[in-house]
Amino acid sequence: MFNRPSIEEIQDATLAKPGSKIDLKEYPTHGKVFFADKAEAKRSLKEDALAIDELQERLYAEKSQSLLVVFQGIDTSGKDGTTKAVFSQTSPLGMRVHAFGKPSANELDRDYLWRIHRDMPRKGEITVFNRSHYEDVLVGRVRNLAPKDQIEERYEQINNFEKHLTQNGVTIIKLMLHISRETQGERLLERLEVPEKRWKFNPGDLEDRKLWDDYQDAYQLAVERCSTEYAPWYIVPSDSRARRKATAARLVRGALEKMDPKIPDPGYRPEQFDIG
Ligand code: ADP
Repeated sequence: MFNRPSIEEIQDATLAKPGSKIDLKEYPTHGKVFFADKAEAKRSLKEDALAIDELQERLYAEKSQSLLVVFQGIDTSGKDGTTKAVFSQTSPLGMRVHAFGKPSANELDRDYLWRIHRDMPRKGEITVFNRSHYEDVLVGRVRNLAPKDQIEERYEQINNFEKHLTQNGVTIIKLMLHISRETQGERLLERLEVPEKRWKFNPGDLEDRKLWDDYQDAYQLAVERCSTEYAPWYIVPSDSRARRKATAARLVRGALEKMDPKIPDPGYRPEQFDIG
């Protein structure tokens, strides 16, 4: 049975409606509503990954607009795995991935958006952010890394920054990978139990897990205040790996299709040239 949700259905179901109150608890973490069948999710991902490759090639050739895909989510929500899956067929030419960890001393000497702006995609490129400027209103808020009033001002600053980018040829989509506390528990345990995954385990993640509710509140606020018509947030159910990847791929494909990049015609014709 073919049971794939359309891109529009996925967009509607996952969009954090700009200007609306957001209650994260109303957004499912399991994803079965979109893909009842895991095998169907895998088929959908494969097809979308190929379509994304084709669209990216057009984008690269066109060289006039760019796409920024932001992945945010609590530890183990699948930011790395989603990046790998959604862009598994994409040529590395014109693709960049930036993971944002704790800011360096050099970065801390600048305003918090400086390092973000530095790594924006060039015309023709797709850039993926694994964590982003949103950390400055997530971990920044939860761990009081800046005075409260400064953190409060950042939401508007971020909206202004993103507006500036979108007015200058960057399409932005932001995906929050939404998992349950139970799933995080299982994934952390798996990281300890499976030797090949142990390198991913960071005891510090347990400290963040203790602050689960604070992080959920911070995510809810960030999504509510910064989901805009020009740079929307989508809340992706991420407990199931296959469904999370398939949902993210639908959203990325949808953004690229809307950008509709066109292969340019430089005007040359074969009869004009003698190749020799
Ligand atoms: P990951 O956990 O994503 O695999 P890392 O182990 O490098 O990658 O962790 C990144 C860490 O950096 C996270 O704990 C995150 O909260 C932190 N971080 C990212 N951006 C900032 C920021 N602007 N300020 C403080 N901490 C940050």
